[in-house]
Amino acid sequence: MSSVSKECDVCGNYYGAEADGMSVLCPQCGEEELSVFSGDWPFQRCPCCDCHQFYRRKDFNQIIGCFIILVGAIFVPFTYGLSLIVLSLLDYLLYRKVPELFVCYKCGAEFRGFGPLPKDVAVFDHHIGELYEK
Ligand SMILES: [Zn+2]
Ligand SMILES: [Zn+2]
Repeated sequence: MSSVSKECDVCGNYYGAEADGMSVLCPQCGEEELSVFSGDWPFQRCPCCDCHQFYRRKDFNQIIGCFIILVGAIFVPFTYGLSLIVLSLLDYLLYRKVPELFVCYKCGAEFRGFGPLPKDVAVFDHHIGELYEK
């Protein structure tokens, strides 16, 4: 199922909606409205803010990644460093399995599960990101 989630521009609350074309109001302030239709994929313009620049990002939980490394570090004295190799491999495999998000530069809306990302969408570029910083 495809969905979109973003931080509310009005109150900063992080919320999401299914991409079924239905409007969903921010549950905290009710001021902002999300309305995304998966049939419009791939988006030329962000359905939330009309921005036309996007980047790709792994939908990877950073905490899990840190935890794996931490566990690897703890076992280093017992395994003569082998645990680090095993865990970085595990980390790598996990990382490859993680799906990618399609993220809007301007409003930060994250689009999940829409299908293969357009090839011309690159990873986050700080130069472009700076242009959109509030
Ligand atoms: Zn809000
Ligand atoms: Zn946007």
